[in-house]
Amino acid sequence: MGIPSAWAVIGCCVAVALLVVGEPLFRAPVGTRDILPPESARRRRLVGAFADLAERAGFGLLESPIFEDQGVFQRLGSANEVVTKELFEFFDRGEPPRALALRPELTASVCRAFVEHSPTVPWKIWYCGPQFRYERPQAGRYRQFEQVGVETLGTHDPHADVEVINLGVRFFEALGLNQIRLLVNSLGDPDSRPPYLEALNSYLHSRSSELSEQSRQTLQRNPLRVLDSKRREDQPVISDAPVMVDFLSGASAEHFAAVRAGLDVLEVDYAISPRLVRGLDYYTRTTFEFSAEALATAQNAVGGGGRYDGLVQELGGAATPGIGFALGVDRILLTCDAEGVFASKPADVQVFVVDTAGGESAVVACDTLRRAGLSVERAFDGRSLKAQMKRADRSGAIVSVIIGTDELDEGTVTVRNMRLGGSQRKVPTADLVAAVTGIVALEA
Ligand code: AMP
Repeated sequence: MGIPSAWAVIGCCVAVALLVVGEPLFRAPVGTRDILPPESARRRRLVGAFADLAERAGFGLLESPIFEDQGVFQRLGSANEVVTKELFEFFDRGEPPRALALRPELTASVCRAFVEHSPTVPWKIWYCGPQFRYERPQAGRYRQFEQVGVETLGTHDPHADVEVINLGVRFFEALGLNQIRLLVNSLGDPDSRPPYLEALNSYLHSRSSELSEQSRQTLQRNPLRVLDSKRREDQPVISDAPVMVDFLSGASAEHFAAVRAGLDVLEVDYAISPRLVRGLDYYTRTTFEFSAEALATAQNAVGGGGRYDGLVQELGGAATPGIGFALGVDRILLTCDAEGVFASKPADVQVFVVDTAGGESAVVACDTLRRAGLSVERAFDGRSLKAQMKRADRSGAIVSVIIGTDELDEGTVTVRNMRLGGSQRKVPTADLVAAVTGIVALEA
């Protein structure tokens, strides 16, 4: 090797080493992250478990766009921080450009779709997917996060509230979680709210000097939201505040009693939390939250929801009641880790194809076995038999299929039972599927 080519080799090595150990040129944007396997598979399983429960309860999947006309979210209310401070807004390339926003939640999209398609009621929808909020990232709080949820539109029946809440409860149970607290409250209705808001407003103003600076600002915009504050200095004021349940109208009190009776008969464990108001402004009557005792307070809200009777109208439809919830997938998985349930597991490989012969036979073997419904992995790059067998072992496969030059010449494959001390036999290629499925069935 001449000197210039030696330098070229050294240069290449350095470049490769830098690429391997150096800082990547790009990272996922702040507040977002890559979900890698096997974690991504766990999330899919979680959504699958939710879909299963929701569909058995008569909810159908709504797939709505990830971005909407900005106005859709503005209808959630001007006192709502998700709308005023956290929206990812942009203009498209239209003439004139349209103001759009990435969805920060899905209830508004469900109501927009309801108005657009006028389905028969009750309209029972489940959904899943990423949401976007420009929040300060921290543990359990991201700018892109995933939710699953349900909405029932078109019924005032308190049993619809019970059905929705109970679905959340059973979902957490199905994951194996048993330290989720359900908090329930009623926010009353348009008749019972004004006297309460008046009482709350004058109470909070009378003690505003004791509130945090942020809560004093919130008080100017929306006194109800002050009750949402988790800041320690606000807690003494909040704990003495008047509560909505003391101001409920007859109809709202009756509705709340029916919801509680439904939860009681199902033996659902819950606590009445008179100061639970939740973030969004459009809630009326039933409101609830699921809180994970295994997580730190700052991120322990794993989901919540409630009844909203004005949102469809805000979006241009006829007055239509709704009840629903959204659960945060990211935080539920953190809770699963904290409680040691619903663990991540490696991909399930049933068959590993080892190819030392080259040519296309391994390509065909993989395809044939996968089409027969088996999960099949293989090695690439013509590595040694020993190296490929090692990978087969590590993959956890039940069977390995070995194709060497002998097998290629004879039109056979070697089928090895990885569990039975490695017993193996040669079979004609035509019998591959039968031989493999036989062992898989035996060992499963
Ligand atoms: P919300 O739509 O605000 O009622 O939120 C419902 C659930 O979504 C919350 O209880 C959280 O579990 C989850 N969530 C909300 N915001 C975030 C975020 N920025 N990052 C991760 N999860 C979130």
